[in-house]
Amino acid sequence: MSQRIFEGSFTQQEAIPEAAIASAVAVLRSGRLHRYNTAPGEHSETALLERDYAAWQGARYCLACASGGYAMQLALRAFGVADGEPVLTNAFTLSPVPGAIDAAGGRPVLVESGADLVIDLADLATKIETSGARLLLLSHMRGHLVDMDALMRLLDARGVALIEDCAHTMGASWNGVKSGNFGIAACFSTQTYKHINSGEGGLLTSDDAALMARATLRSGSYMLYASHLAGPDEAAYAEARLEQPNQSGRMDNLRAAILRPQLAALEDNIARWNARYHAVEAALIDAAAGDGELRPIPRPAAERFVGSSIQFLAEGLDAAATAAFLTRCKRRGVALKWFGAEQPSAYTSRHDHWGYVAAQSLPRTDALLKALFDMRIPLTFSVDDCALIGEIIGESLAATRAGEPLQGPLDVDAI
Ligand SMILES: *Cc1c(COP(=O)(O)O)cnc(C)c1O
Repeated sequence: MSQRIFEGSFTQQEAIPEAAIASAVAVLRSGRLHRYNTAPGEHSETALLERDYAAWQGARYCLACASGGYAMQLALRAFGVADGEPVLTNAFTLSPVPGAIDAAGGRPVLVESGADLVIDLADLATKIETSGARLLLLSHMRGHLVDMDALMRLLDARGVALIEDCAHTMGASWNGVKSGNFGIAACFSTQTYKHINSGEGGLLTSDDAALMARATLRSGSYMLYASHLAGPDEAAYAEARLEQPNQSGRMDNLRAAILRPQLAALEDNIARWNARYHAVEAALIDAAAGDGELRPIPRPAAERFVGSSIQFLAEGLDAAATAAFLTRCKRRGVALKWFGAEQPSAYTSRHDHWGYVAAQSLPRTDALLKALFDMRIPLTFSVDDCALIGEIIGESLAATRAGEPLQGPLDVDAI
């Protein structure tokens, strides 16, 4: 068996494109970094980004803000979540999602995530019934889309609204409809590990003029919202303009300037991500050839996804075998994340780590997370790198399943 080692960095993203650097330098030279600090007749980079993103997404309105988490808080507040109101969300997600519900005064009601990593629709129907919730904040976790047609039928029949967390699905679609265009509002992140990178940043899209007016006022628009290029007409603000608190969380022109050229390159980058995703997937299936050794997550034909990360299930490993598997991968340069750990580690966490959320019984999600492994695919990796990574994971799993002894100490956190 080959023991090739991978030497790339899983946290190394591509450089910001030169065109974006040039735009950023122009903003810095102008001194006009605040989105409402424009010269006469000028549109700010932030307003232009909102215009560009609304057009790309096919949404009527877009508001740029400070982070993806903030966009979710804003959407929930603009929807009108009341203090203590139940808000449904999928249990397998990242901590900013329940955090946003808490920040908006809501109470997270967690819905089981099924074996394909998407929300379990039967459990959703039950939880709508038992909680009386009128809103689902659905996180398309790791870019996996549930059957959106079935979901919308279920929600519409019960009068439940949808807000989409599209942090991992910018550019994805279901049956030709872009992720983010199903609910009353959608939230995107431009944080470094997402599909366009400004360090921090968020985008909120919606076709609902009243909701968007409330969100814009809350984001800290003062009385300058008429300068937006992808906002509702002034009439939409009439009712809300003196009623909505300013909860400042705007985007600035520097970040917007960095993002606009990246948006123009996004389609190309989606193809590059997917080539890498398919290379990892093919190699790991090949290398872990034994029956039932690992299960890739199926990708339905209706789903167009963005392969910026990959997940697979390796069932039946106990804690010691999991630690040995992760250690084998890590020694050969492959950084896998495991969501089953007793303690949260870096970006991973599970519902029982969110101590501010009332404890909830989610046996299917718990079983899923024990067997679930996850890996980022930065575009700095070549397709050949990705094939090597898949091979390393497959071989490490096969060696673990075969009970080959592991020499030396374990090299994993928080098992
Ligand atoms: C990153 C992320 C967010 C929020 O993004 P930030 O911009 O970091 O606040 C929301 N949901 C999921 C699933 C994420 O991965």
